Amino acid sequence: MSTLIATKRVDLLAPYLALPQGPRVQAEYIWIDGDGGLRCKTMTLDSKPESVADLKEWNFDGSSTNQAPGHNSDVYLRPVAIFKDPFRAGDNILVLCECYDNDGTPNKSNYRAHCKKVMDAAAAEDPWFGLEQEYTLFDADGQVYGWPKMGFPGPQGPYYCGVGAGKVFARDFIEAHYRACLYAGVNISGINAEVMPSQWEFQVGPCPGIDMGDHLWMARFLLLRIGEEWGIKPSFHPKPLKGDWNGAGCHSNFSTNATRTPGTGMQAIEEAIKKLEKKHLEHIAVYGEDNDMRLTGKHETASMSTFSAGVANRGASIRIPRHVGAQGYGYLEDRRPASNVDPYRVTAILVETTLLN
Ligand code: ADP
Ligand code: MN
Ligand code: MN
Ligand code: MN
Ligand code: MN
Repeated sequence: MSTLIATKRVDLLAPYLALPQGPRVQAEYIWIDGDGGLRCKTMTLDSKPESVADLKEWNFDGSSTNQAPGHNSDVYLRPVAIFKDPFRAGDNILVLCECYDNDGTPNKSNYRAHCKKVMDAAAAEDPWFGLEQEYTLFDADGQVYGWPKMGFPGPQGPYYCGVGAGKVFARDFIEAHYRACLYAGVNISGINAEVMPSQWEFQVGPCPGIDMGDHLWMARFLLLRIGEEWGIKPSFHPKPLKGDWNGAGCHSNFSTNATRTPGTGMQAIEEAIKKLEKKHLEHIAVYGEDNDMRLTGKHETASMSTFSAGVANRGASIRIPRHVGAQGYGYLEDRRPASNVDPYRVTAILVETTLLN
């Protein structure tokens, strides 16, 4: 049913999208709202901008997005990154924005402003990140996408990286998102079907510094936006279904000049892990809402209350990938962040704890 509707809608829109638009360009301004969701609105530009410096600051009604009170509702949008627009194509663009209040301070939803300062302070160490975004698909009725309307699919086992009808759900939607990311300029590095049926993962990275948060948020935007056409609602909740179904995380891979140096890299990784252990609870505090429902010690997670680390250990807080252990340098994987974590927060605190303190 939803596939039929989707096909029809695309056919209706296609001739209009093919009309020439002259020199004018549509810029979709995108921002993070007061609940960690995404919002957007469009501005017509007279010509194609060269960089964010050519883009106007804009504003919106923050009382409608849980970002400001009604009596002082204007919130400002400052463009920070440009991506190509896979929906309108041509010279049209997606513009990621930071939110600022009237008094010039970052809005409460804006974790990028602080993250940018942290990344600038640590620039000499050239921090890189790779985030593994897990998410779960729901249909328009709020049921897990593709699951039987009565009852449940068979237990977990055949679904992770699965192939075949009944094992894999909505592959066409996943493909559309992957290609849209590549077109837009998002540094997406791969995808895979997850352990729970209708749960998926995409990876973004390695990205240096502030780019990590920018690219992950844009990938999330594309996922939600394409979902409109399929009638699919991707959820970033870390435990979307109670019971014997895997939760969803956002494993955060992290390296620096020191950890990437052959010969001495492993020593730098071990030093970083010691620092991370001392700040375990501070990290957990910013690693996403409802993460306690996911970090139970089951389903390939470590318990939330204790810190652990190990080579190739998927039940640890921090895992050193097997190949990193073998070659003696590279990166570590922080397995604690939930799927709904703000990437600006996780990348900032990793750098603060290991490089700036
Ligand atoms: P897993 O085995 O945990 O499922 P994935 O292949 O899903 O691993 O993800 C690995 C991630 O690590 C990717 O996002 C990749 O970009 C990232 N990555 C690879 N090398 C580095 C590095 N040197 N520094 C930071 N991240 C890296
Ligand atoms: Mn209006
Ligand atoms: Mn992965
Ligand atoms: Mn995964
Ligand atoms: Mn992982």
